[in-house]
Amino acid sequence: MFLTISTTASAAGAATDLGFLLHKHPDRSQVFSTSYGAAHVFYPEASAERTTAALLLEVDPPALVRRGRTQGRGRGGAPDAALAAYVNDRPYAASSLLAVALRTVFSSALRGECRTLPERAAAPLPLRIEVPALPARGGAPLVERLFAPLGWQVAAEPVALDGHFPQWGASRYVSLVLEGELRLSEALRHLYVLLPVLDDAKHYWVSPDEVDKLLRFGAGWLPAHPEQKLITSRYLSRRWSLTRDALERLELARLADADDIEVEDIDNAVAAEVPEEAEERPTPLAVLRRTAILAALRDHGAARVLDLGCGQGQLVAELLKEPRFTEIAGMDVSVRALDIAARRLRLDRMGERQAGRISLFQGSLAYTDARLKGYDAAVLSEVIEHLDLSRLPSLEYAVFGAARPGTVVVTTPNAEYNVRWETLPAGHVRHADHRFEWTRAEFAAWAGAVAGRYGYQVAYTPVGPDDPEVGPPTQLAVFTLTAQKKKEEAAA
Ligand code: SAH
Repeated sequence: MFLTISTTASAAGAATDLGFLLHKHPDRSQVFSTSYGAAHVFYPEASAERTTAALLLEVDPPALVRRGRTQGRGRGGAPDAALAAYVNDRPYAASSLLAVALRTVFSSALRGECRTLPERAAAPLPLRIEVPALPARGGAPLVERLFAPLGWQVAAEPVALDGHFPQWGASRYVSLVLEGELRLSEALRHLYVLLPVLDDAKHYWVSPDEVDKLLRFGAGWLPAHPEQKLITSRYLSRRWSLTRDALERLELARLADADDIEVEDIDNAVAAEVPEEAEERPTPLAVLRRTAILAALRDHGAARVLDLGCGQGQLVAELLKEPRFTEIAGMDVSVRALDIAARRLRLDRMGERQAGRISLFQGSLAYTDARLKGYDAAVLSEVIEHLDLSRLPSLEYAVFGAARPGTVVVTTPNAEYNVRWETLPAGHVRHADHRFEWTRAEFAAWAGAVAGRYGYQVAYTPVGPDDPEVGPPTQLAVFTLTAQKKKEEAAA
């Protein structure tokens, strides 16, 4: 596996500056050990006019197989499969292994750090990158679609299966040449993400922190890339839940013009469209949850609805689609979330009538708030678990005691279901900001006590697949003010 990076002299400096930018001296050949074999860095040419750095990864197939086994992903089974683990194209083709080597060997350059020549690292330079054997599922046309929008001039030639037998046609490899004026760190980040995307076969098990990696290395270019969905899905080995999470975060990054934005994890991510390529496409839990909440609101004839802890406004958007909901208010403690909600809803471009139905405001559920009075229904969707248990009684009073809508819909994760999440390590909550997650019994104990204290009745509905052992992923409770209480309050 082999790639070269070349630059030529420019007004900004000599071509040999590449050595400083890569933190590798042009006069020396160096070897780095990676988990999959030795990575060699050397300079086939190094003159002031033109300098080329080469990265050669010498894959050690037994090491690859060993790593696979220790990660519990050995390719056992048929003898052919066992042999394929040793005899394959890995030693020759650029792939996810090469991407890992890039990160290992050029980590400072990837981050754009260069103490000696910081201004060179921050500026574009004339670059030429060559990858003689790049496995590319989707062929040269896809290579073009991936690199061209990033400012590269792309020359991708299919490699013949065998030069002696042209009639055999093209292999799945292309020989790639990229040329452009880009910052070195940008170029490396493009390669780091797109080489494995083109290879479309990760050599390691894709875990949730790959989403963070993708966002980190995709910062500045992936949020606006026209092939963002394909890139995300393939980078994450088509694991739909991770893909959905990543797409949601990319969308928010685009909206917020920032790359560091935090949003709810896996199941709380909005139903970002999962790309065509994804293998499985169950309805996202967030969608099921909103469907269940809307059904509960309709059943109880609510017209004026309050979404407490509305986040980025996904439920508000759904409510807006139905004329029966005449007044919709979203409240959240986070100004940033409200800002994104307003943009997502395009409040500024909304007609007067539509805009008249809706209000968004900042507030905290930890305090009694007069603005929460007078609604038919309030929704607390995936909110209670964000409050410390010690603050929950204040929320209970603010909502059930003071605001006192006829109907309150509460959803929260079912902790028992966590064992069913493929990506959740045992004993973990679903999102870092969750202060607690309850079992069905714990939720029922809480809901029953609150209902009793404030004169409500409560009923439960499962959301998502109702597992015979551990129950559904989301639990939903609908509280209704009892008829007697209503009468008493009307009389008072
Ligand atoms: N209801 C949305 C968002 C859930 S995330 C959904 O179902 O997808 C939880 C939200 O609660 C976050 O937006 C967070 O800012 C908000 N939140 C947390 N503590 C809060 C508090 N004390 N008062 C109001 N909102 C709060």
